[in-house]
Amino acid sequence: MTAMNYRYILVGGGLAGASAVDGIREVDKDGSILLLAAEAALPYNRPPLSKGLWLGKEQVSDIFVHDEAFYQGQGVDMALGTAVSGIDPAGSAVHLADGRTFSYGKLLLATGGAPRKLSIPGGDLPGLSHYRTLGDYGSMRAQAGAGKSAVVIGGGFIGSEMAAALNENAVDVTMVFPEANLVQRVFPEGLGRAIQGHFRASGVRVLAGDAPASIEKSGEGFVTHTRNGENLPSDIVVVGIGIAPGVELAQAAGLKVENGIVVDDRLRTTDPGVYAAGDNASFPYTALGIRTRVEHWDNALNQGKQAGRNMAGADEPYDYMPFFFSDLFEFGYEAVGEVDSRLETFADWQDENVTGVIYYLRDGKVRGAMMCNVWEKVDAARNLIRAGETVAPGNLRGAIH
Ligand code: NAP
Repeated sequence: MTAMNYRYILVGGGLAGASAVDGIREVDKDGSILLLAAEAALPYNRPPLSKGLWLGKEQVSDIFVHDEAFYQGQGVDMALGTAVSGIDPAGSAVHLADGRTFSYGKLLLATGGAPRKLSIPGGDLPGLSHYRTLGDYGSMRAQAGAGKSAVVIGGGFIGSEMAAALNENAVDVTMVFPEANLVQRVFPEGLGRAIQGHFRASGVRVLAGDAPASIEKSGEGFVTHTRNGENLPSDIVVVGIGIAPGVELAQAAGLKVENGIVVDDRLRTTDPGVYAAGDNASFPYTALGIRTRVEHWDNALNQGKQAGRNMAGADEPYDYMPFFFSDLFEFGYEAVGEVDSRLETFADWQDENVTGVIYYLRDGKVRGAMMCNVWEKVDAARNLIRAGETVAPGNLRGAIH
């Protein structure tokens, strides 16, 4: 450490925190920066943890946002494996659990989120994987392999991606989730049913419409008892039931928190010296006219960068439309906007439930789009959503591809 006072302090060593370094340096070439991170690893990209690393497409060494030399070259002090115990916006100070205090000119809270735990008997047994970090990947790699078995709880992003990844690594996988179909919040019913069919055909046992009632330890493994009366022994249990945004520091400091840390279009919290970005930030999504949080890679990347630019004085609105993506066996997609299966949907298939575009509409206007095995069309989808024109769903045929 070279100083106790920094022009910029970034709390959180995920993608949003690392991207803020890039944003700051675009505007301010030499202001002092301190990056504080709870994890011991350098900031890394999370998508490969449940995708490419399991398919041999990427190696752990590929996933870091920057190498150590980059941060040194940019004059960034790093304190990894460090817990922040409190922030004091009135005194412009950050307190660490180890007793140190640093003061700042501008502060970023990029504290991400923590996996939710099951509130059932055995829901917090040691050894259950609340899969989120590089450390979790390392532990899972050491456990998973041919002949092993896993129960995957939750049918969202982590549940679906980890079930596919483990199955592709010869692990015998059983999924349990309460919804009727996989990724139900995002996939319209027909697509959800079709993807679920692919999972079953690939050998994943899918217990949809069921939920864990209790989990107990059994030898080195576990037994998951479900509400429908299944008793599922397994070596591994993965729990992917969503995250709780990391709002504790903001809340304790009296900043406004409402489903995330509330920020304005400059990504400023209710204290003008404190910014927030990434999974924990509730921001005005101007292109959609809503306030929301987005828990995806592309938002952390771009929002973190914009927060950094604004902390350094750029004073620009965050008007970006983040996309997200997933790979589930041979099915992959990119999506942008309000991709919510409760909206009216119109599927323009070139190949039923495999290749095509799904449009999500509200009051006759396109609010979101999912490009299924269709690539490089995210900008076209953004333009369609931004145009905000009223369309008859049938007229959307061919609008994007
Ligand atoms: P998620 O996508 O929010 O899915 C959680 C799922 O668990 C939802 O279907 C949820 O249902 C269900 N659930 C909630 N409580 C449950 C309970 N008690 N028992 C069983 N199921 C329950 O969250 P995730 O899969 O855990 O992913 C964690 C985070 O990583 C998210 O922020 C996600 O966006 C991110 N991530 C993103 C990607 C990607 O972009 N491709 C990939 C991996 C992870 P309800 O909807 O009814 O609550």
